[in-house]
Amino acid sequence: MKKILILALAMLSITCKTKEANTELTEKKPNVLIIFPDQLRRYSAGFWSEDGFKEHVVGKPDPVITPTIDKLAKNGVVFTQAISNYPLCSPYRGMLLSGMYPEQSGIWNNCREGRDDSLNDDMKTITDLFFESGYNTSYFGKCHWLKTEPLFDENGNYVGTEEAPGGHYVNTYDTYVPAGPGRHSIEYFYQSLKDAHYNPHIYSSDSNTIEGKKDGQLHLPKIYSPKNEADKIVSYLKNNNAERDSEKPFFMIWSLNPPHNPWDDKNTDMDALRKHYDTDKYPSNKDLVVRENASLNVANHYVRNYFANVTSTDTYIGIVIDELERMGVLDNTIVIFTSDHGEMLGSHGLEGKNEIELESVAVPFIVHWPKGLKANINDILMSVPDVLPTTMGLAGIASKIPATVQGTNFAPLLKDPLNSTIKKPEGVLLMLGNSRGIVTNRYTLCLEENKKQWDKRKGTALAKKFIYDNQEDPYQLNKINLEDLPEVAEKLLIQLGKQLKHANDPWYKEKKYSDVIPYPSN
Ligand code: CA
Repeated sequence: MKKILILALAMLSITCKTKEANTELTEKKPNVLIIFPDQLRRYSAGFWSEDGFKEHVVGKPDPVITPTIDKLAKNGVVFTQAISNYPLCSPYRGMLLSGMYPEQSGIWNNCREGRDDSLNDDMKTITDLFFESGYNTSYFGKCHWLKTEPLFDENGNYVGTEEAPGGHYVNTYDTYVPAGPGRHSIEYFYQSLKDAHYNPHIYSSDSNTIEGKKDGQLHLPKIYSPKNEADKIVSYLKNNNAERDSEKPFFMIWSLNPPHNPWDDKNTDMDALRKHYDTDKYPSNKDLVVRENASLNVANHYVRNYFANVTSTDTYIGIVIDELERMGVLDNTIVIFTSDHGEMLGSHGLEGKNEIELESVAVPFIVHWPKGLKANINDILMSVPDVLPTTMGLAGIASKIPATVQGTNFAPLLKDPLNSTIKKPEGVLLMLGNSRGIVTNRYTLCLEENKKQWDKRKGTALAKKFIYDNQEDPYQLNKINLEDLPEVAEKLLIQLGKQLKHANDPWYKEKKYSDVIPYPSN
């Protein structure tokens, strides 16, 4: 009798274990969709002007119309303090893809003709890791992570050699990413390059999308790039031409070029401009350029075009989100909405990015995943190397995060804020060609060398050392000397030393300016 009971218990235990294993295998993992328009500043979204959100804005939000982003924000987790550590196209992409800082990703500057910056082949990127975890991987839009070389014929077709018929560049900056290690396990590839919103230069692994051309042959559809990409993504999702294995979850990155420049009528969806930002709605640009540190003279020539590009980008993202909803998979798709950096839009008399100030480093970050995360507002200082481990953590594949990854997996903190042992970071590292700094929930610290950003010579001394109090001075109008805020300065400098060590930054390796930065001793 006893033996039978033991046998029965043993069998029950086996059945339970098998059931558990089967559940793990058969329960479909969430899909993942990372969307990042280029150069979209944190506060260029409509929801920031609404109750519940406007209290979290540093300064004033832009008067811009973005119904899709608003919907994602209201049903997702909105990060109020997300930061782009190095606010520039290629260094951002290196960190996003690798979960590591530039010294490890291989990208310290924008990839362009005459520069060696290029994503390292011999490491696993987020696309490799999701592919290995059983996902269909796809990439749509701007890449900008590969060294630019003259490997094209005069028509822009990739020939892979500088000898004739090669010897031509396809573009000064971004270049085609050929099939192979540089593509990092992206199975379905649809690349748009060139900063020309109505004339994207397309290369694709799917000949159906490029009029029967092969991967590497240039295709010029002459369609507004977000619209063109949205159409291709919808087709991929519908799987009309067996683009993917519908049994598998998908991992997709969509990197849109607008609202990146050019900002002229030729490169703008003029219907969006006339409908939302024309002089009948805003007689003066003053009503559009609302931040108190902004020079209207600087922003005048492009503010309407910038906002129109934001709004039309939002429209085409909406087409993809609607398709996911129609398919019934939106609730179990982890949609991450962010940007590679912001846009100065006249603040501090500047346009563009690659500045230490908030308009340049503050980025949107929204995680929309109704099945897994409750809508919430979160002040975690989320920065770029954290995106890879956090996304893997949310998708339930944290065990596959490589030990070399330098970012933090914040998924436990997002899933169970009260019981997680993960600590919120006190500050995150900032870097530019001639500067290093720290941003916390309150302050920005900046140490700037005695050279211009793009000067290849090494800096030999610190020319500027200052702190912004982003709470008391939300527009960063007042640079505070370190001596005038000694206790705060000390804490920020300790942070900086630790972070530079963690990033394996050249400043740490050379113990640069160690009279100012207290580097950890081991
Ligand atoms: Ca960019």
